[in-house]
Amino acid sequence: MKLHNKIMLGLLLGAALGITAHMTAPQAEWLAWFNTNVANPVGQVFLRMLLMVVVPLVFASISLGVAGLGDLRNLGRVGAKTLAYFMMSTLVAAVLGLFLVQVFQPGGGMDPLVRQQLLDAYKTQAQGLQAGGTTRFGIDMLVNMVPRNPISAAANMEMLAVIFFAIVFGAAMTLVPAEKSKPVTNFLEGLNEIVIKIIDFAMKLAPYGVFGLIFYTTSRFGWDLLRQLGMYVALVLVGLSIHGVISLSVFVKVLGGLNPVVFWKKARPVIITAFSTSSSNATLPTNISVGEKDLGLPPKIAGFVLPLGATMNMNGTALYEGVTILFLAQVFGIDLDIGQQAIVVFLSVLMAIGAAGVPGGSLPLMMVVLATVGVPPEAIAIILGVDRILDMSRTTLNVTGDLTAAVYVARSEKLWSPKSVPVGEKS
Ligand code: ASP
Repeated sequence: MKLHNKIMLGLLLGAALGITAHMTAPQAEWLAWFNTNVANPVGQVFLRMLLMVVVPLVFASISLGVAGLGDLRNLGRVGAKTLAYFMMSTLVAAVLGLFLVQVFQPGGGMDPLVRQQLLDAYKTQAQGLQAGGTTRFGIDMLVNMVPRNPISAAANMEMLAVIFFAIVFGAAMTLVPAEKSKPVTNFLEGLNEIVIKIIDFAMKLAPYGVFGLIFYTTSRFGWDLLRQLGMYVALVLVGLSIHGVISLSVFVKVLGGLNPVVFWKKARPVIITAFSTSSSNATLPTNISVGEKDLGLPPKIAGFVLPLGATMNMNGTALYEGVTILFLAQVFGIDLDIGQQAIVVFLSVLMAIGAAGVPGGSLPLMMVVLATVGVPPEAIAIILGVDRILDMSRTTLNVTGDLTAAVYVARSEKLWSPKSVPVGEKS
């Protein structure tokens, strides 16, 4: 059986068995035992195998990508195109979310009793989130992008800071004499290949890892909450689907010249990895591998755009943030005028840039925005019980959005055309 079919099987089996276990024996001792000793450990090992290569991969691929662009003017142009595409697609996603939530008003009819129950049930978790993160927002975000110490930034997985260092490093490589930069280039190229090999190892584990992650999540998920929050959850999922099936497909077709069916077929390993890990960072290795091997994108573009996208370009997160903030405002009967809604869109885009590419990475920032528009930040407790399923889905859009950006940039730089897409599946 082909690897991607095995991974798919792991996903389906994990979901089916997890949901069954939750429905038949949610409190069973064997289930807790199985989750603690089998499902979660296997999932975590897979996740960690992917995460462990993220820092060397980002550093090597970005600095090589930047150095490969040669001239700093090229870097400026590619960088500007990349950021412009990120902004455009994130904005489209946020506006779509806002539009849907205004039309369907999912928060209007929530029973105040249910509201209170949810607030009480998830209060502690919400407080934990709030304590976790306000510093990554606003002007701090810009300052913190420049690391005081690149090793400590890497150790703390501060990806924007690592990226900044890698970009400066790559740019400087082009400015020193070739005989000085050549050994470094060779080293980084070797490092890159070795890291890609490690990703292959990790992907061999993927069928079991994906099974473990999905089983663990579905067997412990708050399915019962879906009845109360069904309309909200459905709206986020519908919004994400519209953005994927329509917006991203249109961008791929119009800006990348690529048939969306081919694109989505090739993107399958990325979709499954993102869906099961809920982490853009953990999906980055797979994304680079699919971008280069399956879509045939040039490494200097894939290696530059995809790591940047994993940290800065989160279409799914922007859409989800907009919907959630307005939903919670509706639950609390707070009317936001058109100006405040524009602020929500603007802040959703900003949050999507600032959010860390880890499970639930956008939640701490969202509490700040809730407070900004006059909704109590603890209100986030209301949606925490169903967040995982939304996280899995928005992360999928986040990373496939990065891949569409790479397709667009590579084509507009005339370094790639849809004809460069290899036949068959490599990842
Ligand atoms: N989990 C998301 C990601 O890694 C971030 C978030 O929206 O929480 O892309």
